[in-house]
Amino acid sequence: MAVIIKDDLCIGCGSCEGTCPFGVIEMKDDKAVINVGCTSCGACVESCPVEAIINIAEEVVLVGDKNSYKNVFVYIELYEGKPRNVGLELLGQGRMLADKMNQKLAAVIIGDKVADLAKEAFAFGADTVYLVEAPELKNFSTDGYAMAFEDLIQTYKPSVILYGATKDGRDLGPRIACRVRTGLTADCTGLGIDEETGLVAWTRPAFGGNIMATILCPEHRPQMGTVRPSVFKKPVPDYTKTGEIINVASKAKAEDIRTKLIDIIKIAGSSVNLHEAKIIVSGGRGMGKPENFALVQALADVLGASVGSSRAAVDAGWMPYPHQVGQTGKTVGPTIYFACGISGAIQHLAGMSSSEVIIAINNDPEAPIFGVANYGIVGDVLEVLPVLTEELKIALKK
Ligand code: FAD
Ligand code: SF4
Ligand code: SF4
Repeated sequence: MAVIIKDDLCIGCGSCEGTCPFGVIEMKDDKAVINVGCTSCGACVESCPVEAIINIAEEVVLVGDKNSYKNVFVYIELYEGKPRNVGLELLGQGRMLADKMNQKLAAVIIGDKVADLAKEAFAFGADTVYLVEAPELKNFSTDGYAMAFEDLIQTYKPSVILYGATKDGRDLGPRIACRVRTGLTADCTGLGIDEETGLVAWTRPAFGGNIMATILCPEHRPQMGTVRPSVFKKPVPDYTKTGEIINVASKAKAEDIRTKLIDIIKIAGSSVNLHEAKIIVSGGRGMGKPENFALVQALADVLGASVGSSRAAVDAGWMPYPHQVGQTGKTVGPTIYFACGISGAIQHLAGMSSSEVIIAINNDPEAPIFGVANYGIVGDVLEVLPVLTEELKIALKK
């Protein structure tokens, strides 16, 4: 709860009782108390003549001086005991930021028996690895991992923390931001240093992707953001590099973790791992009807590719959401991206324009997708796809 009543200051005047639109303030033993249901709207704060009601969210809670916060931390998210690409991509960006700020780059690895992964973090650019290992931390949990991070922040005071904008990162980042009372720029697609202030400049699409907003965090520390996977390339690893490993004892106990992982059930077609795919064949509204996605799948099968989709095809119910590429879907960066019957709206481009080679098939020569495509085929996708698939089958001897 962000609004609290300081018991020692309350004189029991009752002025606040009627001000709560949710009726959750009550007088008990001549003191005001806030019951369950407070939305932290703040409507009651001004009603108190003795300033006993305070909004703790508005208080700047910094452990020590802002300038005492140093170094860039990158959260290395794990999946089945291995780092996800996004953490390694962020080590590249973290290195860039740390060098510009003349600070160190640290990787944060949380899990159970994961010490071996430190090598990987050093190879991808980390100077230091903070290793938090405990059986309770074997699988991701918001409570356990947030607790581990909060401890790290309070002890080591990083100036910047980068998380992947993944399911876990989007869960963890805001939780930590709230705990340590700092800001978080979500879903960034660009990072840099603001020349005037020396702060991290977090860039992300805003207003439906029509503008890019650059956000600074001047008052609070750490400066934090989640960054979309596949926007940045992984740095070239150097396995001769080493660094310092700092083992951090976890304070999380099993009873602190309110969720229990019972089972992991992989959904059918979990070839939807678009973030890591080298080749993606995506279809859009131009495919005409859901059955025609069989042509997209056929080309993907020949190339060993994953199948993607535009939002229009997802909204029409032709493809499940996990296949969606774009601003509100996944950000991908494959070696080859096929856009089949996709117009190239800005929100779609936001998710795939960092692909190395883009091949577009569209019957409208003016379609915006041709503005970003390396190769374009103007024609009916329903005619082009079978021919292309057959030709590639022959060329690849499949
Ligand atoms: P259309 O724009 O309808 O394009 C279909 C294309 O197919 C046209 O270019 C047409 O010329 C071509 N075509 C038609 N028939 C054929 C044929 N027989 N052969 C060849 N070509 C043919 N979109 C996303 O994709 N991902 C997102 O994450 C996303 N997020 C969004 C978030 C917000 C806040 C908003 C406002 C929009 C978002 N959108 C997103 C929607 C986006 O603006 C577009 O509406 C969407 O990308 C269009 O999908 P499309 O290209 O498949 O369809
Ligand atoms: Fe009620 Fe809002 Fe005050 Fe909470 S902050 S007690 S909801 S008026
Ligand atoms: Fe207590 Fe202030 Fe409410 Fe009066 S207005 S009852 S002093 S909290």
